[in-house]
Parts: sequence; C-alpha cells; structure tokens
Amino acid sequence: MTTPKHTIEVEQLHKRFGKIDAVNGISFKVEKGQIVGFLGPNGAGKSTTMRILTGYNRATSGIAKICGVPVAADPHYIKRRIGYMPENNPLPLDLRVREYLKYRAKMKEIPFSKRRRAINQALESCDLLRAQDRIIGKLSKGFRQRVGIADAILANPEVIIMDEPTIGLDPHQVILIRDLIASLRGRMTVIISSHILPEIEMTCDQIIIINHGKIVGQGSPAELRDTFIDHTTYEVEIHGTNKELEAALATIAPELLIERISDHDADGFATAEIRIKDKCDYGEKLFKTLSVHPHLRTRSLRRKMAPLEDVFLAATRRSWEEVDQHLLEGPVPPGPQQPLQTKPEPTPSETAPTPQPEAQKPDPK
Ligand code: ATP
Repeated sequence: MTTPKHTIEVEQLHKRFGKIDAVNGISFKVEKGQIVGFLGPNGAGKSTTMRILTGYNRATSGIAKICGVPVAADPHYIKRRIGYMPENNPLPLDLRVREYLKYRAKMKEIPFSKRRRAINQALESCDLLRAQDRIIGKLSKGFRQRVGIADAILANPEVIIMDEPTIGLDPHQVILIRDLIASLRGRMTVIISSHILPEIEMTCDQIIIINHGKIVGQGSPAELRDTFIDHTTYEVEIHGTNKELEAALATIAPELLIERISDHDADGFATAEIRIKDKCDYGEKLFKTLSVHPHLRTRSLRRKMAPLEDVFLAATRRSWEEVDQHLLEGPVPPGPQQPLQTKPEPTPSETAPTPQPEAQKPDPK
C-alpha cells in the first residue's frame, strides 16, 4: 500500500469527558516527513488529540487517519505505523536499556532477524550505546527521555508522536533532543508538543496552536507571525538624546514611536525599540535618516522578529475573547472562528462527511 501525501489527517475530531469538550472539532493535515509542533496552554487538548491519533483514546466523533487508514478501523495496523512517547515517558525503572528495547522490539513485532540491528540503530541515533547496559531507574532524566525516543523510533515507524519530549531537561539535553528530532525530518512525520516555544520554532515546519480544544492558529512560524502580529519593531543602538531620536523619527512618520530605551552604555550608546502599529517597512528610511543625522550616531539597526511567545499569547487571547463572546451572546457560528487559521480551507470534497468508526468502537483502554 502506498503512503498518501498526508500521513496524518484529522477531520472534525471531538473528545468529550463528561461535560468537558477536551477536543472540540479540530481538523488538520500533516504532510509526509514534516515536523509539526502542538502548542497550547495547559488543558488545551494537546495530549488528548495525541492519544486519539495513537489509538490510546477513542474520539467521541470525527475521524483521525494515519497513512490513510482510520485509527479506530485498524488499531493494530496503526500501532505498527506509529512510535509514541507519552507525556511523562513512563518506563520500567528496573530494566536495563537494551533489555527494555529488546522487549519493546518484540512487542512491536519487529521480525527476530531484524531486532538486533533495529535496537543498535535506535541506540546509536539516541546516543545511548554507552548507556545500553545501565538500569533505567538509575539514569538521569535526559537519558531516560532518550530511551523513550529510542523506543518511539525503534520500529522505524512512519509517524512519531511525542508528548513534551523535553520537559524538565537542561538546555544541553534540550539541544540534543532537538537535534535528534530534527534528524528525523523527511524520514518520519513527527508531532511534538512542548511549552518551550523557541524549541518548537527551531524544530518545526508547521505549528498548530490549540486552545480550549480548538485550533486557533496554524501555519509556519512566519505565517503565524503574519496572522497574529500587527506591528513592526526595529531595534537601534543609538548615541544621542531621546528627544533628538524622537524628533528624527517624527520626520519619517508620526506613527514611529519609541517603545522602550535602555540606559546608555560606557560608550554612550542606548538600545531603543521603535514600534510601528502596522506591518510597514520603514527600515530603509530609518537607516537613511539616522545615518545622516547631525547629532545622532547609529551603531546598529535591525528589524526585530516578534518572539513566538507573542504569537502564542495573541492566538490564545483571541480565543478567550471568543469564549467570552460565546458566554455573552450564545454560540458563535463556525464561520468567524475559522479565519484565524492561516492555511487555506479544505475544498468541500475534502470535508465531505465520512463514516466515523472512532465513535462506534469501544475504548481500547
Ligand atoms: P497539558 O499541557 O497540561 O499537558 P493538554 O493540552 O495536553 O494539557 P489535555 O491533557 O489533552 O490537555 O486535557 C484537555 C482537557 O481534558 C483538560 O480539561 C483535562 O482536564 C481533560 N481531560 C483529559 N483527560 C481526561 C480524562 N481521562 N478524564 C477527564 N478529563 C480529562
């Protein structure tokens, strides 16, 4: 069977726990070989979505497909296609690393003749060869996370799903895990969730922001900035008074404002942040004006990219506004909620109702 272009397809997925809509009608697609980051505040529905994708939870309604196959229609097939590292990475603490991977290789039905090679490759990819005979319970957190990832990639699956793989790691370990995940690009489709935003930005091709069980933003980091950031910021290292700088900016455009300015350093330079409440490019004008100014000396000028944190806050704040609107005015029709997504809407044929076997199957748990 050939793998379709999208290894992960999710359509109108819902998961209800009692009165809570943990996942509330989310739809997205992931292309083969892409790395996708799931972002969202605590309780947004990231883990629940991941658990449905892996077949550990069943959806209340909607459909999740892995490699074109609905998860609930053939959980056995799906489990062979997916490597899953759950939140908190539960591991048997009394086993040795290689012993554990041997056990997992058997569980994953890797043919006996290929097991040794698969284990060695996973150990090598995760830089675990030197720890292969150590007892898992005696390993540091970083090593344990790598054992979890070695398990996820062991059977060379098409899809890897990792729930907060870098939680609690020091910056060195985060970089190691980030590089390891990046090395899977093109070979495997990867979904990771994390609260470490720079890590998600550096690793992922696409980011999906979830809040209250809904997708509130989706796209590349650049597309998300374009959607959620409504201002442009320049950073300039300048020698001169604030008044002179303000006057110089006013000659360019009245909307150029000094957002903040640092103290002067030993050479008399201060770093000023200049903000324009629009997506305008004043870089060249700023450069020309400041460089010929009789009293100001400019040491550097650069356009500052908004941190992903600002995107995250804007995306989730907007969603809270929607929730408030919902409470005040009743349910919001689906239309106005959708423009937050930066990707084109699927065509009607893509959204055509499909059978929903997930809702009918018993929970495998
Ligand atoms: P975090 O970043 O804290 O891991 P999350 O985005 O992964 O959060 P989920 O764990 O998916 O969020 O939880 C979404 C919502 O569903 C939360 O309100 C949570 O309390 C609820 N929930 C999750 N699992 C269950 C369950 N088994 N029973 C009842 N409620 C649940």
